[in-house]
Amino acid sequence: MAWCPSCRTELPATAVNCESCGYDFPHRPAVLVQHWAWSSLADLALVAGQLVGLLGAILRLLSALRSLLDFEFADAGVHVMQVALLLATVVAFARVQQIQK
Ligand SMILES: [Zn+2]
Repeated sequence: MAWCPSCRTELPATAVNCESCGYDFPHRPAVLVQHWAWSSLADLALVAGQLVGLLGAILRLLSALRSLLDFEFADAGVHVMQVALLLATVVAFARVQQIQK
């Protein structure tokens, strides 16, 4: 989220001008495109991060099931929390990929 420097209206991060007062952000898209985080290597890192996050979530889920079968409930709880964090990471990376398009 961004704010207009002229009238302080809240704007989408990708806005090129203010919907309220018309303030123009002429150089903003060029700055974003030149930043390393918008490089093709960064895109590859996001895809790799999603794959690793998904694989990690599956492995942690299997660990949680094994812990339950061994009646180690505290360990199972930790594994379930790790699954939730890894899945949230996958979702966050996917949303970041949508924002930069
Ligand atoms: Zn404005």
